[in-house]
Amino acid sequence: MHVEYPKPRWSDKFLLLDMLEGLKTTFRELFKPKVTIRYPEERLEPANRFRGMFKFSFDRCIACKLCALACPIDIIYIDVHDEQREVDGKMKKLKVLDRYDIDVKRCMFCALCEEACPTKPKSIWLTTKTYELATYDRNDLYFNMQQLEYWEGRPEYAGLPAEEPKPVIAHDAKTIGGAS
Ligand code: SF4
Ligand code: SF4
Repeated sequence: MHVEYPKPRWSDKFLLLDMLEGLKTTFRELFKPKVTIRYPEERLEPANRFRGMFKFSFDRCIACKLCALACPIDIIYIDVHDEQREVDGKMKKLKVLDRYDIDVKRCMFCALCEEACPTKPKSIWLTTKTYELATYDRNDLYFNMQQLEYWEGRPEYAGLPAEEPKPVIAHDAKTIGGAS
């Protein structure tokens, strides 16, 4: 198909009217407030409902696996085993949390895991306001229980809930009711 374009007028070429039209937009935008920031020197504070990096509470988790069941793409890996232990003078069957991993590189940040968590406050949550998860190696985005709780090597920002006292982890295991 042959397209006929209008022929440029000699006055347009001579007076550079097109360029002036473009510069008009440039000058108009020059004096408007900027919407960009000088990242990483400056950082924007995400909204309270923003879903960012996970945080896990070893103390609160009751090893119920509801978060893993709620995850639509099955990227939460939990291993537990049952143990008989004495709690308040009585023998009780307790769930022991051996593994709590999240393959964050596949996560779509839907927060269904957080919603499914029955503990109050939640044992897994995404409202940490931390969005800087960039890495050179995809495998760095596979987090185990310790990394999800302590965020070693990850920057923390305002908006992150105050750090809780770190539990003493005996035998790398977690039990219901705080017994270990
Ligand atoms: S936020 Fe990620 S881990 Fe949690 S349910 Fe959604 S996809 Fe799964
Ligand atoms: S994080 Fe919440 S839902 Fe997941 S196993 Fe722990 S208590 Fe259950």
